[in-house]
Amino acid sequence: MESLLTQERTDTFLTDLQCPQCGATYNAAQLNTVCKKQDCQSTLFARYDTSISLSKDVLKDRPANMWRYREMLPVIDPKFVASMGEGFTPLLPVVNLPEDTKSNQVFFKNEAGNPTGSFKARGISMAVSKAKELGVKTIAIPTAGNAGGALSAYAAHAGMGAVVYMPKQTPQLFKDECRLYGAELVEIDGNISDCGKLIHELAAEKGWFPISTLREPYRVEGKKTMGYEIAEQLNWQVPDVIFYPTGGGTGLIGIWKAFNEMAALGWIGDKRPRMVAVQSESCDGLVKAFTRGDVSATFTDGGFTIANGLRVPKSYADKEILRVLKDSCGTALTVSDAEMETSVKELARTQGILMAPEGAALWQAYKKLKADNWIKPGETVVMVNTGSGYKYLENIGI
Ligand SMILES: *Cc1c(COP(=O)(O)O)cnc(C)c1O
Ligand SMILES: [Zn+2]
Repeated sequence: MESLLTQERTDTFLTDLQCPQCGATYNAAQLNTVCKKQDCQSTLFARYDTSISLSKDVLKDRPANMWRYREMLPVIDPKFVASMGEGFTPLLPVVNLPEDTKSNQVFFKNEAGNPTGSFKARGISMAVSKAKELGVKTIAIPTAGNAGGALSAYAAHAGMGAVVYMPKQTPQLFKDECRLYGAELVEIDGNISDCGKLIHELAAEKGWFPISTLREPYRVEGKKTMGYEIAEQLNWQVPDVIFYPTGGGTGLIGIWKAFNEMAALGWIGDKRPRMVAVQSESCDGLVKAFTRGDVSATFTDGGFTIANGLRVPKSYADKEILRVLKDSCGTALTVSDAEMETSVKELARTQGILMAPEGAALWQAYKKLKADNWIKPGETVVMVNTGSGYKYLENIGI
């Protein structure tokens, strides 16, 4: 790949992009969205040359943020990296709930401390950096809330334009932060799919580069760093189960990709975590498809949920998500809004962490799978608290 080699380089092992559905490959030195093959249009995934020898000891002296895994990240020239310290969030053991956790090691990977208060910072930092490197000036995003705030902040930091389409029903704080960071915010009478449709209709005419979930190859590269961190923070032991609140599924797919990459690098062995997708009762298309054994999901929108990040009627990469759940021997289940609200409060009182309802949902899902004996005594469990609860308070009774 000549063009990649002639530029000033970070230490990236990036080679190209590949479509997981039809196998087509794409030049990573160009701006890409999805697979261009007719009737395919799948998400594209970055590939790296893992035959290069890289000891995990190199990590010892590196900064505590997601860019510590730079060989396995896609930015080529370091001057384009838009970073505000995202990642390397704490892996916190669950405390004060001994009746539920005494026979397991149970952790929250607490993403609340990221810039703009959610793990969206990881994917957006990566996508903004890579888009800037590839010459983009203005980025547009359909969002259920947190991704819009993250894009607004990172675009401001990178000196780029940001356009955010967000459902009107989203709590006010999610909107205010976008405006404060200088983005153009458009409120839509509809859900995130409606926002995405409008953005993609307007993008060419307006000169925007849309970074809708998994219709752009690099947000998943940011979110995959959670997988690297979980392994590193467990001293390279692979946990038995990882719970993930699944909207578009970027993090679920990313974490799974990270474990496969770490194995290819020789950093871990053959063991893989069982991946658990947790959805809200209002948007349960993946749970239904998984339960039926289907390879793809149908459009499902039951309306409002306090977990706005989970109101995604259909993930663009539903096939990939379902494949990860199957390949990992994982499962999928729903949690109701009432259960999430109870869980936010229980975790606030016992952990001292005010979690986003999406993250708090995982605690209910854990209890269900523990009661079903799907989680066995002695197993190590990681739940990803994807965001801070502070922006959601107008929908959480005190
Ligand atoms: C976006 C979001 C999710 C869903 O993330 P995906 O990777 O798109 O599935 C979960 N929780 C919170 C707080 C979010 O903002
Ligand atoms: Zn394809």
